[in-house]
Amino acid sequence: MFAIMQAAGLEALHLAQDPHTGLQAIIAIHNTRLGPALGGCRYLVYPDSQSAAADAALLAKGMSYKAALAGLPFGGGKAVLIRPAHVPSRAALFEAFGRFIETLKGRYITAVDSGTSAADMDCIAQQTQHVTSTTTAGDPSPHTAMGVFAGIRASALARLGTDDLHGLRIAVQGLGHVGFALAEQLAAAGAELLVSDLDPGRLQLAVEQLGAQPRTTEDLASSPCDIFVPCGLGGVLNPQTVAQLHCAVVAGAANNQLANPEVAEQLEARGILYAPDYVINSGGLIYVALKHQGASLAEITNHLTQISTRLTDIYAHAQAENRSPARVADQLAERLLYPR
Ligand code: NAD
Repeated sequence: MFAIMQAAGLEALHLAQDPHTGLQAIIAIHNTRLGPALGGCRYLVYPDSQSAAADAALLAKGMSYKAALAGLPFGGGKAVLIRPAHVPSRAALFEAFGRFIETLKGRYITAVDSGTSAADMDCIAQQTQHVTSTTTAGDPSPHTAMGVFAGIRASALARLGTDDLHGLRIAVQGLGHVGFALAEQLAAAGAELLVSDLDPGRLQLAVEQLGAQPRTTEDLASSPCDIFVPCGLGGVLNPQTVAQLHCAVVAGAANNQLANPEVAEQLEARGILYAPDYVINSGGLIYVALKHQGASLAEITNHLTQISTRLTDIYAHAQAENRSPARVADQLAERLLYPR
């Protein structure tokens, strides 16, 4: 466990179990210099507790970087609940998790993530106030999509010389909560849409409602287009897929898009502009964080518009210093997280 903590640079790793409800939970706290750790909780099947802890640790680190660059007074954390084969009561399990969060006295604030829902957050809220994205707080996904849309325009301006998306060929991989809402905005802006999703129903919906052209996941990554938009799972940019890309820009919502940090240089070498994922997809976190602080929708929307300015700054630094935007973003975040 200490090796996992050291690899991700965690401040703390908390574990709890409750045999009555089947709860086995891990809370990873990465960095609280800027404020309490905020990050979602996953409820997924894991092969063992080590891989669950490693997942929580890496994701917590990503949240610290995301919150820091978004200018939020929060640190990074993430929770993982190991999903058992059978639970007597899902509600009781999430209430037990709420009691675990309460023991940390506000050092960790949770939110929706893969495998959890606003209804689960409501169960947690019965035990602690350190929870966001409940049914009353609302879904962050449309705000993530809004931020990614603004980030795509900023990226198009930086690489293609225009932020008018009309007539641009844009390939969206993954049409879930974020991807579909984003595809709607791209279609409304006049983009020619190519789309893929593992779920044929989502794909059909985009074809019927948005006039999008369907592709298989494999074909989409190599289809000639202006902008490739990953909105499915992480790790989509690896040496093999990057070699196949046929685009000028990669800018999408998925977390941890780079399979390893060196892929950022490979994208640079191929002349492809990469929007650092945790910068362009920070709209959901901004929504959740500011909503938790009681901000108005106008204040949240104003904060969201800063995503495109931040990306434009990162691109300018990257060009001036002949470095990849991913390296520039990491360094800017690290200056905030680890000041000398
Ligand atoms: P989601 O589960 O609602 O949707 C993901 C969609 O992608 C699904 O329809 C799935 O079938 C599809 N998909 C998965 N792998 C695919 C593949 N290889 N090819 C094509 N389609 C594939 O998830 P979401 O909430 O829309 O989030 C999408 C991504 O954005 C995730 O990586 C998530 O971590 C990240 N993200 C989401 C938010 C948010 O507010 N929801 C915020 C920040 C980052």
